[in-house]
Amino acid sequence: MKVNHHALELEQNYLFSEVAKRIREYQAANPEAPLYKLSIGDVTRPLSRVITDEMKAAAEDMSHAETFHGYGAEQGELFLREAIAGYYARRGTKLDPDDIFISDGAKNDLGNLCDLFDADNTVLLPNPVYPVYYDTSIMSGRRVQFLDGTKENGFLPMPPADVHADIIYLCSPNNPTGAVYNREQLAAWIRYAKAEHALILFDAAYEAYIRDPALPHSIYEIDGAAECAIEINSLSKTAGFTGVRCGWTIVPKTLQYEASLHQMWFRRTATKYNGCSYIIQRAAAAVFTEPGLQAVSADISYYMENARLIKAALQKAGIPSTGGENAPYVWFEAPQQADSWKCFDQLLYGFGIAGTPGAGFGTAGQGWMRFSSFGTRETVSRAAELLAASGGNFEK
Ligand code: PLP
Repeated sequence: MKVNHHALELEQNYLFSEVAKRIREYQAANPEAPLYKLSIGDVTRPLSRVITDEMKAAAEDMSHAETFHGYGAEQGELFLREAIAGYYARRGTKLDPDDIFISDGAKNDLGNLCDLFDADNTVLLPNPVYPVYYDTSIMSGRRVQFLDGTKENGFLPMPPADVHADIIYLCSPNNPTGAVYNREQLAAWIRYAKAEHALILFDAAYEAYIRDPALPHSIYEIDGAAECAIEINSLSKTAGFTGVRCGWTIVPKTLQYEASLHQMWFRRTATKYNGCSYIIQRAAAAVFTEPGLQAVSADISYYMENARLIKAALQKAGIPSTGGENAPYVWFEAPQQADSWKCFDQLLYGFGIAGTPGAGFGTAGQGWMRFSSFGTRETVSRAAELLAASGGNFEK
């Protein structure tokens, strides 16, 4: 038996496992000390009643022969695909429910999509970015080319003039920088993808956090995207589904490549997946009802108020930051020119605050840190007080 050698090319420590390990070591050494976790990418607000009531009703249906559900439709239940199409339609984006595939989360689909592409493809990756794009590309044996996000380009790298790409990952709003591409920038990416005959994989997992009405939530808001882009989305951050698991991937029939990616994805899904649980799909559909959308919007506002508190505290401390206005992540430069992991340790051991080192999201994140706004108000407020009082000096 030969193993997949590409899988051995991965760094052994997944960023979030290393952060968790260092926090455990800190707690073991300081059992009484408080810990303020601004590192978490997980939500803390409980599910809204609108969602759990529907989940209970669906569970009840499963215990009656007349309403019991076994294997579901391969692509996911039509009622949920229609509800998602309705959600996009609210912003004027027309989607065919037939192009929407329900999944048990965006991370799974980001990995699964690799099944559709030959190993002989060049992948263009923004840097820094969610590590899963890089890791899954490496595991599949593809060449990776980075495009640096910098302070100067607002962490929104644009298509390079002289670089060929076959597959382009875009994450907007971006994890970890919180930066969001505007309509003109996405239009430029679409022009580039078409010229290169490349495919864009657009991760919109944080679209619900966009506050600026001028910013696009979906790549399909931009002309031409349906011929060159797949969009991946999730209810994890939109509706607190990190532990419930439900997402969707849009693979339009209009995508233009040597074979129909829609047909390939349908075939792949039918072969390797038997669908997201019926009960969870009912709960997911409840998110897209009026009361569901109101409830999740209240939770999102709660997290965005956390982001505001974090940004205000950094500003008071004289530490410039970006993000946090249309995304649940605040991104800031480590003070005193510390590298990311040094700053992580300084914050942890000096203040009991856990952040996430920017270097873990790519080389261009070196010297930067990410704070997440998914904590409880209590945690965020206390951490914000400590940060503001630090005066921007973490070397204590
Ligand atoms: N995409 C991005 C950009 C993320 O940050 C995350 C989770 O942190 C995911 C996808 C994964 O989402 P899911 O929980 O649906 O797998």
